Amino acid sequence: MIEDKNQQRTQLGDLGEFGLIDHLTKNFKIKQKSTVKGIGDDSAVLNFENNKVVVTTDLLVEGVHFDLSYMPLKHLGYKAIMVNLSDVYAMNAKATQVTVSIAVSNRFPLEALEDLYAGIETAANIYKVDLVGGDTTSSNTGLLISVTAIGAINANNEVYRNGARPNDLLVVSGDLGAAYMGLQVLEREKEVYKVNPNSQPDLEGYSYIIERQLKPEARQDIVELLSDLNVKPTAMIDISDGLSSEIIHICKQSKVGCDLYENKIPLDPQVISTCEEFNIDSTMVALNGGEDYELLFTISQDDFPKIKANPNLTIIGHIKEESEGLHLVTRADTRIPLKAQGWKNFND
Ligand code: ADP
Ligand code: MG
Repeated sequence: MIEDKNQQRTQLGDLGEFGLIDHLTKNFKIKQKSTVKGIGDDSAVLNFENNKVVVTTDLLVEGVHFDLSYMPLKHLGYKAIMVNLSDVYAMNAKATQVTVSIAVSNRFPLEALEDLYAGIETAANIYKVDLVGGDTTSSNTGLLISVTAIGAINANNEVYRNGARPNDLLVVSGDLGAAYMGLQVLEREKEVYKVNPNSQPDLEGYSYIIERQLKPEARQDIVELLSDLNVKPTAMIDISDGLSSEIIHICKQSKVGCDLYENKIPLDPQVISTCEEFNIDSTMVALNGGEDYELLFTISQDDFPKIKANPNLTIIGHIKEESEGLHLVTRADTRIPLKAQGWKNFND
């Protein structure tokens, strides 16, 4: 769908491994004070002085986590960084460095990797993280990308999944389900294209949900907002697998129950209309869709006045005693047990 037939194709072998790494990373600038030595030695050297350090890794595999027939490589590079930064922000930390490791088959020309690194560079610039290393190797199958993100937390500001207490409010940033519905639209267009390769993808009216799928943003802004509002969540997690399973993680680890209100779940109008078109229940999409990269957290009731007027945050429920269980309170006011099913089963 997105292949440019006029594209130049330089064989990777023409550069050699060192030439390739150098070529791909030469434009990256060091921005963080904590980066003492970046790319170019056997290891990077970082100095966090008195801060605590968080480290997180994600591995993305072609055909499992992304499909290059509708995922431009530039977006893939950007998204690979976002997925990891989201995990750093979910600890209430500031992201500072990333490493990027790739395994590529020689069906990829140099220009494809340039696109991938252009996306990585854009993300690194916007989110002010330094690329400090990685590894490059060949693959006989598809493309693999592994990103490790490093972040810093000052004092005792880290937030775990296990701190939610009964009566805390359950809060989510942004809106949910859009990335999943964006994927449904892209999959549909891919099928149309298979039947008729001359067809133009019909993506009009779906721009928000497609952007949420192809170019998600990690919620650094929410971590800053909470700090500005002087609110420290009692528990926090990022929403990668769907609201339902993330609520279950917080409740299990905190040994609490909860009520989640269906009518409070934030949905973009484009999600609602696309769900109608596909005949899918929008609540199911928000609960089980995944890849939203929003933050889900709990706060003490005392902090309610500080967040209540904020358009980026929605209170979707509250925490209860463990013995009361985890429930979705539906629009019809019935209570259904929350389950972590999802259609995607083993998709992550
Ligand atoms: P080594 O043989 O010690 O593993 P490499 O030759 O793999 O070293 O890497 C040389 C330098 O380039 C190191 O600083 C490494 O972290 C960095 N590097 C290697 N591959 C990548 C990549 N894909 N992206 C960013 N940096 C990389
Ligand atoms: Mg190496």
